[in-house]
Amino acid sequence: MTQEELFKKLVAHSKEYGFIFPSSEIYDGLSAVYDYGQLGVELKNNIKRYWWDSMVKLHMNIVGIDAAIFMHPKTWEASGHVSAFNDPLIDNRDSKKRYRADVLIEDWLAKQDEKIQKEVDKARKRFGESFDEAQYRSTSPRVLEIAAKRDAIHKRMADAMNANDLNELRQIILDCEIVCPISGTKNWTEVRQFNLMFETKLGSVAEGANTIYLRPETAQGIFVNFLNVQKTGRMKIPFGIAQIGKAFRNEIVARQFIFRMREFEQMEMQFFVKPGEEMKWWNKWKQTRMSWHRALGFGDDQYHFHDHEKLAHYANAATDIEYNFPFGFKEVEGIHSRTDFDLGNHQKFSGKKIQYFDPESGESYVPYVVETSIGVDRMVLQVLSAAFHEEKMENGEERVVMHFPSALAPIKVAILPLVKKDGLPELARTIIDDLKFDYTLQYDEKDSIGKRYRRQDAIGTPFCVTVDHQSLEDKTVTIRHRDTMAQERVPIADLHRLIEEEVSMRKLFAKIEL
Ligand code: ATP
Repeated sequence: MTQEELFKKLVAHSKEYGFIFPSSEIYDGLSAVYDYGQLGVELKNNIKRYWWDSMVKLHMNIVGIDAAIFMHPKTWEASGHVSAFNDPLIDNRDSKKRYRADVLIEDWLAKQDEKIQKEVDKARKRFGESFDEAQYRSTSPRVLEIAAKRDAIHKRMADAMNANDLNELRQIILDCEIVCPISGTKNWTEVRQFNLMFETKLGSVAEGANTIYLRPETAQGIFVNFLNVQKTGRMKIPFGIAQIGKAFRNEIVARQFIFRMREFEQMEMQFFVKPGEEMKWWNKWKQTRMSWHRALGFGDDQYHFHDHEKLAHYANAATDIEYNFPFGFKEVEGIHSRTDFDLGNHQKFSGKKIQYFDPESGESYVPYVVETSIGVDRMVLQVLSAAFHEEKMENGEERVVMHFPSALAPIKVAILPLVKKDGLPELARTIIDDLKFDYTLQYDEKDSIGKRYRRQDAIGTPFCVTVDHQSLEDKTVTIRHRDTMAQERVPIADLHRLIEEEVSMRKLFAKIEL
């Protein structure tokens, strides 16, 4: 199965089992907007809890807030979003399709890497056992030629993006002879800047109304509350403020399912530090955040850092944590050193002093900020893609199983009476009544036990508890483990402890480098 086929299956599976639906589907959906179904919302809430607790509970110097989506319009002038939150777009006149100019060039660059890989694969076949890949890559004239062209275009693109040189971006597209994937032509328009913020009106009469924006990031709600939180919480630098909430971006090209949406959710933490100490903290948060991802057990080699070539208007250092999605390594989280850009600008635009008085040194200063910013939906997609497996069982049958880390699984336990009679459903109900205060449960009495196991595997339930006739006599049940499919007989009285050991977030938290 190719990665593309796997991804298609995952999207279909997510819909079929109630994880994610296209928005307003009865009206044929709304582009790049999705709804979370009954299982998706549980998974998403667990991911949010994993993040929130790892910030707010595990760090005594981090607190949370929940700011409004609407903010005073001046916020977005101060933050630079009104003037600089743009993507370069280009249209193909024949297909009438719109693209991000930088993405077209990035796709072309990726094709050059594929070409090199093909040359390497061909040579490996030719040379057989004695093939030395490193030597071939560094000496083959064909490979060197492609790599040199690729590097030159890469540099031109980075320079053009940094200088906001739209003509140069268009010229690169022409020079590389990039064609529209739909029409196959090179009939391109000029490149234009496109602001990604959604506008709306505040107020009931059009004339008196103010234009306001749907926030494109949650971070600004934290910056404008810096003094409120610092003073009322008696916070001492270094300290952090965390927030989870919706953000909105009018993305030009929205694709890859919930990877790039127009309405999405972010989990952001702004860490306020003394000027000059930001690099130390930036490095520290890189490690902490990477260990948070790796604790989930999807494989350390599935992640890497990718440093930014084009720094955002507010940053002096930035890196992304990229995860190996079915469509390649892509950003899930950004760790940015934002300097004093935001607080300094809010001070300027609001005319209010936004400074921290350091009681030890006796000086006042505008703090520097290190931000960790992760998309909830991209994290959901990471967990779904890592968990999804089709497996052959010993009896030759296939099962689809979601190997969720137990702490994140939407349903923790399924309670299954072997038959619908003889008092088994009643005993099952008493078990539910005991466990329901702590865990999300499902009750299922329909079809054979085998079929019921398959249904629970497909939604990633870590435990199935089967109640049978022996249970009535000796108060024991069978507990079946999702990953190993092993079954054991245990006293009903032990269920709570056994489940807790496995599904608690403690094990994940213990692996995070704080
Ligand atoms: P990209 O380069 O993919 O557009 P970005 O660098 O603009 O992302 P940031 O502004 O750093 O993203 O936002 C922080 C995080 O928010 C990202 O790492 C990502 O997880 C998430 N995010 C950003 N845009 C979207 C989107 N359109 N849909 C879903 N998640 C998003």
